[in-house]
Amino acid sequence: MQVPEYPGLTRVQERAIKIAVEGTCELCSEYFALPLLEIHRISRRLYREMVRDPSARILVVCGPCHQHIHRLPVRVKDQRAIVSRRPYFVRQELRKALGYTPKPYSPPETSALSEMYEEYFYHFPPGSFRLGG
Ligand SMILES: [Zn+2]
Ligand SMILES: [Zn+2]
Repeated sequence: MQVPEYPGLTRVQERAIKIAVEGTCELCSEYFALPLLEIHRISRRLYREMVRDPSARILVVCGPCHQHIHRLPVRVKDQRAIVSRRPYFVRQELRKALGYTPKPYSPPETSALSEMYEEYFYHFPPGSFRLGG
């Protein structure tokens, strides 16, 4: 019995992930029926910098390729290369399947800061200091 490498994935997610790569093994590029594909998790210990995007941590592979990855093993560097070669839309679909939405970069302070300024100008409108003179 094989222990699932990505525990917590629902069957729906797993299916969506396999559909995202169009039912192909990401290692040998062959087409497989979805139940024959397996989800390999790239070693997190060696792949620390990409932990935020869960789609970057997985490979969809056929059974033989999956064994190959673990037995040889296929270097994490090479596994990562497969991840980085993914077409944009595949990546998007994988992220969607995994429930990950990359947020556009915005510093968290921004809104707090503008609120602070609004507050400031509410109490001290520009020019108010001159009136005190
Ligand atoms: Zn394969
Ligand atoms: Zn694996």
